[in-house]
Amino acid sequence: MTDMDNVLVINAGSSSVKFQLFGIPAHDRLELLVKGQVDGIGTRPRLLARNSEGGTLIDAPLAPAEVATVSAALERALLFLREKTGGKLPSAIGHRVVHGGPDYKEPTVVTDAVLNHLERLAPLAPLHQLNNLAPIRIILARHPGLPQVACFDTAFHRGHPDVADRFAIPDDLHREGVRRYGFHGLSYEYIADRLPKVAPEIATGRVLVAHLGSGASMCALVSGKSVESTMGFTALDGLPMGTRPGQLDPGIVLYLLTEKRMSGSAIQNLLYNECGLKGLSGISNDARILLAEQSPAATFALKYFTYRISLFAGMLAAAMGGIDGFVFTAGIGENAPTVREAVLQRLSWLGAEVDPAANALGGPCISTRKSRIKCYVIPTDEELMIARHTLRVLHEHAPVRREEKRA
Ligand code: ADP
Repeated sequence: MTDMDNVLVINAGSSSVKFQLFGIPAHDRLELLVKGQVDGIGTRPRLLARNSEGGTLIDAPLAPAEVATVSAALERALLFLREKTGGKLPSAIGHRVVHGGPDYKEPTVVTDAVLNHLERLAPLAPLHQLNNLAPIRIILARHPGLPQVACFDTAFHRGHPDVADRFAIPDDLHREGVRRYGFHGLSYEYIADRLPKVAPEIATGRVLVAHLGSGASMCALVSGKSVESTMGFTALDGLPMGTRPGQLDPGIVLYLLTEKRMSGSAIQNLLYNECGLKGLSGISNDARILLAEQSPAATFALKYFTYRISLFAGMLAAAMGGIDGFVFTAGIGENAPTVREAVLQRLSWLGAEVDPAANALGGPCISTRKSRIKCYVIPTDEELMIARHTLRVLHEHAPVRREEKRA
């Protein structure tokens, strides 16, 4: 492998550690070298990695007892990368961190103090935050001088107007952090960055972006800046998702507590793992399976999904004072033409008109020439966004690091 400097991106979740290694061929250029993951942590762990052309570098099962935790999966991924790079350390590591709370408005170099602060935000994202942070803690202990940059899913939304950030609750709760944050920010930031190149006619206008993956949300962009999101305090709000219900009457949680006598952890498990497409269909959380299945339950789950997307589209259009463009992204948004078509048909009252042939081919533009709303499919790339942030932060801190070396 090439001996140019590189940046490593880590996205650690509860059942997988995804990683991408980028070379830095010139000051501000990034080039994907390796993309991989250890998934099936604790159940059927597997290490898979590909080169930039998609060629398989490794695809091997791992011993479940040896890869039972996120930390063990990270160790295995780092070992693989050390072998590939001849032991060369990356110049910096960028991490996806789901929650930055009210204070972190941009990518941040992680110190012990920052890490302690971020760990205290764990209750705001119980299934994600500590898994995201575990690799940072391990690498910080081993290589304290290696810059690590936390890139937050909340940061892109921190410029929301006050009225968008509030719940109608007493002010002391708001001040302690119970507010609407919004998530998938790295994805939306990447899309906002792509718009001037892919869809210049709407880039400075009012664009609704639907990130439809196993997690799903929508973001209202005005001139490339987020002004509103369907997600709120946690990644449970807004659209129905693979296993999460999306917007729910809070009275349901009270009912589960008081009438059904469910514990907090049982309710948490229900809301994070048993609802959404999985709960609705009783079949699967995976849209591919539901699209292939065509049973009444699968059809209903998908109809509910597209119905809710169209309802929230009306809400976000109101936040923007109108709508000029609609962008689909992430696993379902990029790959499911029937979902896109069903959503856009429901938005015909706003002036959306889908071009069936372009939609079947995946765009990028999928609306007719006379459609008042320009509709696009734009693949997202959160890892590249993290790598860019990390490189920029690395450059900003380079003079400091040179001083430190001299001292
Ligand atoms: P995440 O990164 O949140 O896990 P992705 O953006 O990779 O999610 O999206 C994953 C989801 O995308 C899968 O659960 C699946 O439902 C959906 N998906 C992937 N490929 C297709 C496809 N060809 N058709 C429909 N849905 C798809």
